[in-house]
Amino acid sequence: MKTVAVLGGGPAGAFAAERLARAGLKAIVFDEKLAWEKPCGGGLTYKAYHEYPFLIDNDTPKRLVNETSLSAPRAGAVRMELAHPLVIYSRMDLNRMLLARAEKAGAFIEKTRVLGLDRKERGWRLRTQSGIADADFCIIATGARNPLRHVGTEWSATDTMSALGYYVPASQAGIDIQFLPQLEGYIWVFPRCGHLSVGICGKGESAQSLRARLEAYMSERGISWRGSAFYSHMLPSLETSGWKKNRVSGEGWLAVGDAAGLVDPITGEGLYYAMRSGDIASQVVIDDAHGLIEKASAYRTLLAREFAGDLEYAASLAKRVFLGRFMFNSVPTRMIQFMRRSPIFHELMQDLFAVTQPYLGLKGRLLRYLIGTLQEVLTNFFLNRVIPGNSRASL
Ligand SMILES: Cc1cc2nc3c(=O)[nH]c(=O)nc-3n(C[C@H](O)[C@H](O)[C@H](O)COP(=O)(O)OP(=O)(O)OC[C@H]3O[C@@H](n4cnc5c(N)ncnc54)[C@H](O)[C@@H]3O)c2cc1C
Repeated sequence: MKTVAVLGGGPAGAFAAERLARAGLKAIVFDEKLAWEKPCGGGLTYKAYHEYPFLIDNDTPKRLVNETSLSAPRAGAVRMELAHPLVIYSRMDLNRMLLARAEKAGAFIEKTRVLGLDRKERGWRLRTQSGIADADFCIIATGARNPLRHVGTEWSATDTMSALGYYVPASQAGIDIQFLPQLEGYIWVFPRCGHLSVGICGKGESAQSLRARLEAYMSERGISWRGSAFYSHMLPSLETSGWKKNRVSGEGWLAVGDAAGLVDPITGEGLYYAMRSGDIASQVVIDDAHGLIEKASAYRTLLAREFAGDLEYAASLAKRVFLGRFMFNSVPTRMIQFMRRSPIFHELMQDLFAVTQPYLGLKGRLLRYLIGTLQEVLTNFFLNRVIPGNSRASL
């Protein structure tokens, strides 16, 4: 393996290039924009910076946010202290930092658009806006709007959601999350350095309708969008069927990040999976023990084992989380009510936010917690009845 072309220099591509260059390979990143304000909340979870501490230990501007408010119709809001802060970057800053790290490790960075790639007898020929480039191997990191049709995830309408919002010149201390009636998605308000990222994501609903919902929410909260920059983008959100046929690798190429559909179908978190898949892909490329076909299947296996299996399972839960009903009310409404009433449910939500609770173990933990919560509620009810004026009566 001599030259690895990394197509796309977002978090997935930049991180893969850094790893490849550190291992002594010639890695060339091709990106048409390089550091840019990609439409994104920019939130990095504890799981991400726990695994890659440089994501929190650096001089790049960022906000560390320790509190969240979650709201749902007919349940009001509940505040939650985060067990670990969410680190929020502007994407311009995050991309710039990751590209600088790649360059420092020895990767070559070229600002150009890749127009196509053709298989040669050995390796690849890339057609770019600035000419032709040859490579032995390709990492596809062109994001959710990957224009290269024969590599990476093949999108169907049901495997994506719309995400849009405004960068509002205002500030606040905590994050707001709002669930809405009949929406497989949610609204977020993320405080960033110097502005708020206020956005909405939703599946099966037009961008126009999502924008109307978001603007109604902003009006209600007194957040003005006039004069604020608008953003919109596609967010991968694979259904279970999408995960089963997901095209993440082939002979001589591996797809990473959004180009491989690697986004949490419930939260829309993609930054961690972009970097982690970039890391795993680079390890597979570096490993001399594998031939090209074996590399493709080794990567698929490693992804499934690390997190793709969990995300596939999450896809089977997503509709129930947002649109399901539990005890005559919507699941988000019940979730807020449980958080308010039960410290153990509250703790579970903190772990989900930090992504330290995999979806695959959620059912068992929920069952245990429901039993515990029921005990808590009954105990409080009993104390309230038997000892009137008991301080826990507020529950
Ligand atoms: C509105 C919104 C909010 C989000 N909020 C969050 C969040 O808060 N936290 C989180 O974890 N995730 C969030 N995500 C998801 C996150 O943005 C993505 O998962 C992440 O950007 C994926 O990184 P990537 O490197 O795979 O792709 P991208 O960041 O999309 O990078 C792809 C790169 O490829 C380049 N490119 C594309 N085509 C070509 C071409 N032909 N030639 C050359 N270059 C090309 C682009 O210029 C771009 O730089 C959000 C997504 C959206 C849409």
